[in-house]
Amino acid sequence: MNQPIIVVKNLTYKFGNFVALDNINFVVEEGDMAAIIGPNGSGKTTLLKNIIGVYEPATGNVKIFNKQPRQVVRSIGYVPQKFEFDHDVPITVYEFMALEKCRETKHSCTNIIRALKEVGLNNIEKNKLGELSGGQFQRVMIAKALLHEKAILIFDEPSTGIDIAGEQTIYDLIEKINKERGTTCLIVSHELNVVNKYANKVICLNKKMICSGTPETVITPKNLKKLYGIGAGLYHTH
Ligand code: ADP
Ligand code: MG
Repeated sequence: MNQPIIVVKNLTYKFGNFVALDNINFVVEEGDMAAIIGPNGSGKTTLLKNIIGVYEPATGNVKIFNKQPRQVVRSIGYVPQKFEFDHDVPITVYEFMALEKCRETKHSCTNIIRALKEVGLNNIEKNKLGELSGGQFQRVMIAKALLHEKAILIFDEPSTGIDIAGEQTIYDLIEKINKERGTTCLIVSHELNVVNKYANKVICLNKKMICSGTPETVITPKNLKKLYGIGAGLYHTH
């Protein structure tokens, strides 16, 4: 077993009286490309917010590098499911990236162009943020997370609103970061084919843990029926 990086133990989370997560347990190890799957409203985003320390569990806990999430927040790059901004605000890609860089280190922003290149975006830094395509914007968000050598990258449905070709690009990119940098990655996705192709560990969530393990053991007709309540023949993942 590799070094445990994210350890979720007996985690329960409530919005008022509503139990959104019920006794969740799993471990993400160093170098993992782990995926959380589950239907809409199954608590995936809520779980990520507990992991990054935005939400406090009602019971149980999350440890990252054996510490409280808030103590290691600088080691984590988080690409949220929705990033709302006014598309009319005349901010360029470079200025948007510089916000992150300068806010954290007060250093000059020399790595911005390199980070954009790394995600396959050349000569885009002067473009307006509001004029990017969904796929380009998502890559800018990833580049922003790459500005500091984060040990962990967390993505919430990174291919939402992106076509299939764009989706492949995003996941290829995440895989490249995972392999080349050794960055531990945790991804929420509803795309089972993608999960099957890229993840080495899958966590099935529907308020409770339905199952977890390798894609081969987890993505089975029986588990999918349990998770999504759908007929077994719908997905052909192997
Ligand atoms: P997923 O990301 O899997 O679609 P979420 O984590 O966003 O699911 O939501 C899990 C459940 O918690 C849903 O039933 C949702 O309506 C509820 N929920 C999410 N955010 C809030 C909130 N801020 N206040 C109350 N209920 C919420
Ligand atoms: Mg969500």
